[in-house]
Amino acid sequence: MDAHFLPHLTSRQIATLPDKEHAVVVLPVASIEQHGPHLPVYTDSIITQEVLQRSLSLLGDEPGIYTLPHQAYGKSNEHIHFAGTVTLTAETLLHVLMEIGESVARSGFKRFVILNGHGGNTEVIDFAIRDIREKTGLMVFALHLFLRVAVPEEGLSESEKVFGIHAGDVETSVLLSCTPDLVHMDQAPHGIPERLLAQETPPFMGALNFAWLTDDIASEGVLGNPHTADPARGEKYLDDAARQTAAALKQVRHFSF
Ligand SMILES: [Zn+2]
Repeated sequence: MDAHFLPHLTSRQIATLPDKEHAVVVLPVASIEQHGPHLPVYTDSIITQEVLQRSLSLLGDEPGIYTLPHQAYGKSNEHIHFAGTVTLTAETLLHVLMEIGESVARSGFKRFVILNGHGGNTEVIDFAIRDIREKTGLMVFALHLFLRVAVPEEGLSESEKVFGIHAGDVETSVLLSCTPDLVHMDQAPHGIPERLLAQETPPFMGALNFAWLTDDIASEGVLGNPHTADPARGEKYLDDAARQTAAALKQVRHFSF
């Protein structure tokens, strides 16, 4: 039994857990969306769950850290024109997060973390956590796995550092490390789309934010270069992310203001 998995407990056990002031409930949220011709649509979900499991192993017997089942459906409408993408609207995702937060509060917890493994969920989650805080009084935190947890820059090309945001070197490296059977390198597109490289300033990373859909900028659904992927770097990335996630969860447990 996974001692951290909250739904393995009974209602009475949850109602009477010790030290609920400091107990932390974690909701992992990811996506089911196209990741090019070479990676599964479950990529973000696989990575998010792998990082969380590794961080729980690092936390070992650390008491009072509980996880909910992972919320696989996120907001992925940038990938809506590709088969296999299953998306919620921003409104639906917001309601789902709000109602899970309210349930956590009703169960007597005080600290709630949303662990985000998909960039397209970011704005909705940041919006939701403040509303959950306001509505329930919970201390609510967002941990954006890909935005604020360090990506190992060594080994990445300059163009990958700028453009490698989806199904490129980093995600391909990670999947080659943890689920190599699900990676089809023979299908991986070559390099970063020419029309992206031709842009002096990427149209989605400056002060001027273009509301791109993936097929506007990458017809094969890949932003980055999968062919430089390296499973050893993928392994290091998972471990780095797990270490930082474990440290963040400990910080939430001891947080006070
Ligand atoms: Zn992804």
